[in-house]
Amino acid sequence: MNLHEYQGKEILSSFGVRVQKGIVASTADEAVEAAKKLTEQTGTEWYVVKAQVHAGGRGKGGGVKLAKSIDEVRDLSDKIIGMMLITPQTKAEGKLVNQVAIFEDVYYPGKSENEEYYMSVLLNRATGRNMIMYSTEGGMDIETVAENTPHLIFTEEIDPKVGLQGFQARKIAFNLGLSGVALKEMMKFVTALYSAYEGSDASLFEINPVLKTSDDKVLAVDAKVSIDANSSYRHKNLFALRDTREEDPTEVEADSFGLNYVKLDGNVGCMVNGAGLAMATMDLIKQSGGDPANFLDVGGTADAERVEKGFRIILSDPNVKAILVNIFGGIVRGDRVAQGVVDASKSMGDALNVPVIVRLQGTNAIEGKKIIDDSGLKVHSAILFEDAAKLVNQVLS
Ligand code: GDP
Ligand code: MN
Repeated sequence: MNLHEYQGKEILSSFGVRVQKGIVASTADEAVEAAKKLTEQTGTEWYVVKAQVHAGGRGKGGGVKLAKSIDEVRDLSDKIIGMMLITPQTKAEGKLVNQVAIFEDVYYPGKSENEEYYMSVLLNRATGRNMIMYSTEGGMDIETVAENTPHLIFTEEIDPKVGLQGFQARKIAFNLGLSGVALKEMMKFVTALYSAYEGSDASLFEINPVLKTSDDKVLAVDAKVSIDANSSYRHKNLFALRDTREEDPTEVEADSFGLNYVKLDGNVGCMVNGAGLAMATMDLIKQSGGDPANFLDVGGTADAERVEKGFRIILSDPNVKAILVNIFGGIVRGDRVAQGVVDASKSMGDALNVPVIVRLQGTNAIEGKKIIDDSGLKVHSAILFEDAAKLVNQVLS
C-alpha cells in the first residue's frame, strides 16, 4: 500500500525523524488556513504548495511551487487542486490532484547553504536483508544518477536480526562527506528513519531529498512510503490512511472481493488458483500466441459467486478476447469449480461475450470436465495444459 507524502512524513515524525512540516488541504480555503496555522507553529513566512498524488517527479510536472505569501498559497492551490498532473511517473494523461499539502519553506535563500542527499530503506530480495541506499546526488531522479554516475550511489546491508548498528550509521554519514555536528545529525536521522521503516512494516521509505541546512539541520523534504499489505492486521491505523482514489479502480474492486488481480496489457484473461500456477498460466498463454490480460488469483474458493465476480472484472477490460480458467483441484474440487463456471456463465448470459476455456486438473477433474461438456454452454474444457493452450490458440485465430 502506497501512502501520500504528507502521511509518510507523519509516520517519520512519530519515530523521531525531523521533517519539513506541513498540513494537507482539499480546497484553496483550507490551504490558506493550513498556511496560517503553519506560520503559528513554525514561524515560516514562505510556503511550498505540493500536489499529493502517488507519483514522483511532481516538481518537474508543475506540482511543487514556492509561495511567498498567503495570496500566492491561495492562487497556487487553486491551480494545482483539480489539475491533471503529468510527471515522468504518471500515465500520459496524468493524474488528478485531489489534495495539496502546504509545507514550511525549509530552504535557505542561498543555494550553497543547502545540501541535498538521497536516502532510501528497502528490502533486498536477493539477500533477504534490508538495505539503505544513499547518495550525495539528492533532489534529482535516482535512476538517472544510477545510469550516469553509479559510483555515487552507496548501499548498506542491514541484518534484520540485529538492526542498524551505530558503526553503519556513522559510515553512512561519513560517506556523505559530513563531519562534526552534521555527522551526528545524519546518524540520528538515518537511525530514526530505519526504525520508522521497521516499525511500520514498510517495504520502502524513500527520502529524496534529505536536506542539510548550513546550520546543520538534517530533515526529510519528501517521503515516498510503501507499507507491506501482509501487515495490515497489525497496522489498522496505517491502513486507514489508504487512498483508493490513487489506485486502479478495477484492482480496488477485485481487492474488495478478496481477489488478487493485477491488470496487464494482453488479450487473454486468466483466472487461476494460486500465484505459482498463475505465473505458469501466463507463460502458457504467451507460448500459445496470446498475451495475458491480467493476473487473477481466486485463492482457495472458486464457487459460482467468485467465478462470476472474476469474469466480470476480467471483462471490464475491453482488450480481452478469451478467458482461460486454469484450476488445480486440491481442497477445492474440480466438480465444484466446474459447477461454479457453469452457474456463473448462465447467470451472466450475454454479458459473457468471449470464449471461455476451462482447464481442470487434480481432485474430481474428470467429473468437472463432464459437467462443463454436458452443460450445453459454449465453454471449452481441457484436462491437459497443452490442450488448453491449443484451445486458446484456436479461439484467437
Ligand atoms: P518530487 O518532485 O515529487 O520529488 O517532489 P519533492 O518533494 O522532492 O519536491 C521537489 C523539489 O522542490 C525539491 O527537490 C526541492 O528542490 C524543492 N523544494 C521542496 N521543498 C522546498 C522548500 O521548502 N523550499 C524550496 N525553496 N524548495 C523546496
Ligand atoms: Mn522528491
